[in-house]
Amino acid sequence: MKINVKRIPADGEDFEGSEPPAIMELNGEDVVFERPIEYRLHAQLQGHSLLVTGRLRTEATMHCGRCLRAFRQAVAVAEFVCLQELTGEDFVDLTPQMREDIILELPQRVLCQSDCKGLCPVCGKDLNEGACGCKVSREDLRWQALNRLKLT
Ligand SMILES: [Zn+2]
Ligand SMILES: [Zn+2]
Repeated sequence: MKINVKRIPADGEDFEGSEPPAIMELNGEDVVFERPIEYRLHAQLQGHSLLVTGRLRTEATMHCGRCLRAFRQAVAVAEFVCLQELTGEDFVDLTPQMREDIILELPQRVLCQSDCKGLCPVCGKDLNEGACGCKVSREDLRWQALNRLKLT
């Protein structure tokens, strides 16, 4: 998302549109961006700086850290603020800042729901769909916790 600062009128300019998901440059195993990054921004010149405020919104496919299920979740930046000093260039590129702010909105631990029951450490059944009947000992749970530590 590049803004031509030479063309911004005195009372600022509104920008509305979307950028392709490729700008996220982040497709890890847990989070995949496949939807456009939508933006509604207002750009305003302030002396020798460009102030851009507004909102960003997209959707990411995430994989639950406990049950491994894939699900879609909205990711929004409600108060995007970017202040950039002007260096004489015609264009200011907001993409790095947009990317950073969206990544900051991602959850530290991806869970499909806060009380996701995860997979049975014995048979691997998704316990959100019901109990499996396995006898899970404290030992098993401890190993499961250790395995999780190794994964992250
Ligand atoms: Zn889950
Ligand atoms: Zn089981």
